[in-house]
Amino acid sequence: MTVLAFTRWLATTALMRWWVGRRASAIVSPVERLRFLQTHQVTLNDLRARPAVPVPYWVVLVSGAAIGVSLLGVATWRSTKSSPVAGPAQAAELARVEKPVPPPKAATLEKIWVVDTTPAIETYSNGLRVEKKFATTNRPRAYYTYNRNQNLDISLTIRNQPAGIVFHTTESHLTEFTPANNRTLRRYGESLIGYVRDQKAYNYVIDRFGRVFRVVEENEVAFHAGHSTWADDRWVYLNLNDSFIGVAFETQTVKGDENPRITSGQMVAGRLLTDMLRAKYDIAATNCPTHAQVSVNPQNMIIGYHTDWAGNFPYEELGLPDNYAPASPAVLIFGFAYDPSFMASTGARMWKGLLAAEDQIREQAKQNGRSVAEQKAALRERYKKLSAPLGEHGGKSAEGE
Ligand SMILES: [Zn+2]
Repeated sequence: MTVLAFTRWLATTALMRWWVGRRASAIVSPVERLRFLQTHQVTLNDLRARPAVPVPYWVVLVSGAAIGVSLLGVATWRSTKSSPVAGPAQAAELARVEKPVPPPKAATLEKIWVVDTTPAIETYSNGLRVEKKFATTNRPRAYYTYNRNQNLDISLTIRNQPAGIVFHTTESHLTEFTPANNRTLRRYGESLIGYVRDQKAYNYVIDRFGRVFRVVEENEVAFHAGHSTWADDRWVYLNLNDSFIGVAFETQTVKGDENPRITSGQMVAGRLLTDMLRAKYDIAATNCPTHAQVSVNPQNMIIGYHTDWAGNFPYEELGLPDNYAPASPAVLIFGFAYDPSFMASTGARMWKGLLAAEDQIREQAKQNGRSVAEQKAALRERYKKLSAPLGEHGGKSAEGE
């Protein structure tokens, strides 16, 4: 091996990739991180690849020793550097109270496949029929996630597959669901879906007859969630337009309503569509919340800016666990508050997640020897730091900002 060849090889060794990866992981801004990686001509995949050139044993020994020494240095550096998310003390405390947890369970649904497709209709093996005449396009999905087990470190990879589903109501004008109103029902439904297509507001709409309309293509962004956050056991998601599929039922939310105001046709179609999407993208059942659960207002740091499906979503009928019950990620991870009018407007089921989050925050505060107010302030600070680089675009919602 010549000196030049050796230098070239060294540039692609695990040591080099490790160094670049380490430096990149310390950069909070996605744009800055990408720029750094591009500057170093190291693609994200290269960071995981093995060296293509056979490695002489003495190089392995020398590199191993160098990595060992460097790791010691990093341990010292990590303990003294100021965290990009919060102050060093805050970061350590926040990390300590986040329990290490296993990755989300894979979907256990049976395989569902496309049986037949025409320009107008896609038919699936579970009985789902998707109408395509209103289908439109937008930009591809592209988003980062934040590692819950590592103090919300931003992921190294840009993801482009949906991680979950957010359920909405269209809040559109309704008429009584009777045969006599058939013509009006159809007119309302189709004009609604035309509007949704123009706004690129959802990926799917289920009309009152239970017809499933694809609007924005699944692998593209719909402007459905606005400022929002959700989390599974492993990852935290911010502004869910890119990361979650938007599914809307043609119906309205009535304050304090405990029962879903959807037709039996919508219920069946909602189940078939949810099963298909979960099976196709391996979506965890816990990553299927409603808009009211994920919606936040960064201006006043209060949750529930949108209140659709605030307490009456038929989780069980759609083959999902009661996702109202686990601690609300917006409250638990980012210290968002809620006002009495939101509590009054939601069904009691939604309170469970809010109270569970409050309990855990109290525990965190106790462990950290600080007041609940101080703990929440630290959590809110990290939301501001993580969400700032996303800009305004990530928070767009066709239902209103
Ligand atoms: Zn909504």
